[in-house]
Amino acid sequence: MKIGCPREIKPQEYRVGLTPHAVREAVAHGHSVLVERGAGQGAGFGDDDYTGAGARLADTAQEVFAEAEMIVKVKEPQAEERARLRAGQVLFTYLHLAPDPDQTRDLLESGVTAIAYETVTDAQGGLPLLAPMSEVAGRLAPQVGAWTLQKANGGRGVLLGGVPGVSPARVVVIGGGVVGTHAARVAAGMGADVTVLDRALPRLRYLDDVFGGTFRTRYASAGNTAELVAEADMVIGAVLIPGAAAPKLVTRAQLTTMKPGAAIVDVAIDQGGCFETSRPTTHEDPIYEVDGILHYCVANMPGAVARTSTLALGNATMPFMLALADKGWRTACEEDPHLLAGLNTHAGHLTYAAVGRALGIDV
Ligand code: NAD
Repeated sequence: MKIGCPREIKPQEYRVGLTPHAVREAVAHGHSVLVERGAGQGAGFGDDDYTGAGARLADTAQEVFAEAEMIVKVKEPQAEERARLRAGQVLFTYLHLAPDPDQTRDLLESGVTAIAYETVTDAQGGLPLLAPMSEVAGRLAPQVGAWTLQKANGGRGVLLGGVPGVSPARVVVIGGGVVGTHAARVAAGMGADVTVLDRALPRLRYLDDVFGGTFRTRYASAGNTAELVAEADMVIGAVLIPGAAAPKLVTRAQLTTMKPGAAIVDVAIDQGGCFETSRPTTHEDPIYEVDGILHYCVANMPGAVARTSTLALGNATMPFMLALADKGWRTACEEDPHLLAGLNTHAGHLTYAAVGRALGIDV
C-alpha cells in the first residue's frame, strides 16, 4: 500500500503521524511511504531519518494526499486538507467529530474512509490510542504544577519535594484513571505528599494494592474533596465521565479556603474542566490567577513534549497502521472489532453512533 504522512498544519501542533521507526516497519512489510519534507521537524526527526528508514520525500502536502492510499496524521484534517481527501482513501488520525459538524460534513462529502484514533478500543474496555496522551499529560502535570508554584509565576514558592527538615508539598489528584495515576506517581517521585481521590472503589483498591506505599487514596466524596483541596499546595484535575463534560468538583467559593498561591492543574480542561474557575489556556500563556489561586489549563498538554508524545503515539498506532496497510481497511476491520470501533465515516456514510447522536445525523 502507498502510505502518506503530511506535515501537521494545525497551529502549535509539533507532533507527526509516522515516526521513522513506523516507516521502517511499514517498508519492511512491503509498503511504500511518502513523507512531506519537514514533517518530523517539530518532533526532532529530520528528513534524513525518514529517507534512512526507507521513505520517499514529497515537497508538498498536495503530492502526499494525491498519491497515498492511506494518510496517517495526528490532528483532525484542517479545511484545506479535507479538500484533498477522496473516496477509496483511508484516513487514520484523531478526528473528534462529535463537536465538529463542519469537519464531519466535509469528510462525508469526500467519501473518505476515516478511522479515528480516539474511538479505537481494546479488550479491557480502554481506548489504546488515547491512553498514551493521557500518560504524557499525567506525567507532565506535576512538572508544570511545580513550575507554576514557583514565586516568579505568582505561586506559593513551595518546592514539591521539600528538603531535609522542611515538609514536602501536598498534592491532591482528583480522578485516579490513566492521567491521575501517572500524575500521582511522578508527584510522589518528586518527593511530594500525594493523595488520589476517585469515585470508583475498584479503582481505589487497585491503586492501593499497587501504589499503597507511594501515595494515599481517598474516596471522592464532596466532603473529602473539600478538606483535601483546602490543605493542598497543588490540585490536579484528572476526572473523566466518558462522553460527558467533566463534572465541576471544586467551586469558586472553595478557592477562598485554599492556601494563597496554591496551583491548580486542570488536565480535564479538554472536557470543560473540573474546577468552576477553569478556562482553556495555551502553551504561550498557560497560567492565570483567580482569587489568589493559580490555574494551569492547557488543553493540549502533550504538545509541550512533542517528541515524547510522537514516539508514544507511534508505538500505539503502529500495529493498527500495519494491519490497515497489510490487509486493507475492510479485512483489517472485519478481523478486529476494536479497529472497527474506530471507523467513523465510509463512502459518504457516518458509521459511528455517538457522533450521529451528537450531530443529529442518521448512522
Ligand atoms: P480515565 O477514564 O482513565 O480516568 C478518569 C477517572 O476519573 C476514573 O478513574 C473515574 O472513576 C474518575 N472519576 C469520574 N468521576 C469522578 C468524580 N466525580 N470524582 C472523582 N473521580 C471521578 O481518563 P483519563 O485518560 O485519565 O483522562 C482524564 C482527563 O484528562 C480526561 O478529561 C481527558 O480528556 C483529559 N486529558 C487531557 C489532556 C490535556 O492535554 N489537557 C491530555 C490527555 C487527557
